[in-house]
Amino acid sequence: MQMKPWFGKEEKEALCVYMDEGGFLTEFKRTEQFEEMIADYTKTKHCIVVNNGTISLTLAALAAGVEAGDEVIVPNYTMIATPNSVKLFGAKPVFVDVEEDTLCMDIQKVKEAITSKTKALILVSANGRYPRVGIEAFEKLCQENNLVLIEDAAQSLGSFYPNGKHIGSVGLVGSFSFSAPKIISTGQGGALITNDDRIAKTLRKLKDFGRSGGGNDFHNSIGYNFKFTELQACVGIEQMKKLESRIVRKKEIYTLYKNGLESIEGIRLIEQDIEHTTPWFYEVLLDKRNELQDYLKGEHIGTRLMYGPINKQVAYGVSGEHKVSNMIGKKGLWLPSFTQLTNEEIAYVCERIQRFFR
Ligand SMILES: *Cc1c(COP(=O)(O)O)cnc(C)c1O
Repeated sequence: MQMKPWFGKEEKEALCVYMDEGGFLTEFKRTEQFEEMIADYTKTKHCIVVNNGTISLTLAALAAGVEAGDEVIVPNYTMIATPNSVKLFGAKPVFVDVEEDTLCMDIQKVKEAITSKTKALILVSANGRYPRVGIEAFEKLCQENNLVLIEDAAQSLGSFYPNGKHIGSVGLVGSFSFSAPKIISTGQGGALITNDDRIAKTLRKLKDFGRSGGGNDFHNSIGYNFKFTELQACVGIEQMKKLESRIVRKKEIYTLYKNGLESIEGIRLIEQDIEHTTPWFYEVLLDKRNELQDYLKGEHIGTRLMYGPINKQVAYGVSGEHKVSNMIGKKGLWLPSFTQLTNEEIAYVCERIQRFFR
């Protein structure tokens, strides 16, 4: 297995307690508590949870005023959800390459991609990383060009910029995902954070039919239904309590892999600033990527190919060669990355990789 979520008796008990109380299951007090925990942790004014970390990006873009026909700059290396989130309502994702050492958007490429139609950019903090030039350079670029900065921080809960701000808390809106592989999970789920009162209000209306107030049927704007459930919130609250210890372990695993693979010529673990950020998946680059994957499969070790260049996905088929995302698509492999990994399991994976190279 390459990844699996981690739930325990705390989640089970919280669900049982809730069911004994006999609630409506749809979002209410537990959801508010979960939202408060995320807002507190990320030091933002508002947190709004929704049903996943894709629709969260769609709502962020809609709330920020992005419309059909507008261009939105996105990295060519990301989970497909990033571009799809705006494609959904007819905006046009424009793909730019990423930096080799951070896998985040290359600001120079962003500058070259800005046109009169560009309305927003979605910065993906890949594996919890931040761009080399710092988030400040992206803020400045967006201000100068009157663009909306949305942070897709789906892989970054527990990761901070060097200035101490949580990733996702700097742009107009930041987005997280609680899908099964993420550092904490509610099965499905997403969260938006913002310090902007007006945006927060718009987001709450968008996810609840455009209601002008809780539970009434007066609608002064168009909205939909992207609400959460109390069952997910019960799980999410318990998962948030475990976040800190998971962060510590994720960083330890990174160091164990790094030490275990360092001496092997021909394979490289991508560098990460583990003082400020938390690795989510453990990424290696090597020429014989597919051969190693097959070999490890034979040894019952699950891995996963890193995302290929999005512009070359059949779903998009946009012309263009993007050097770094092309390279990751050829050489990138995710090693077993679940937080439950034991030291012995990591040593075993490293030993098998050494054997493959011998
Ligand atoms: C997981 C992920 C998403 C999508 O989240 P879902 O909750 O699965 O919809 C979006 N962007 C990135 C970068 C992700 O890693």
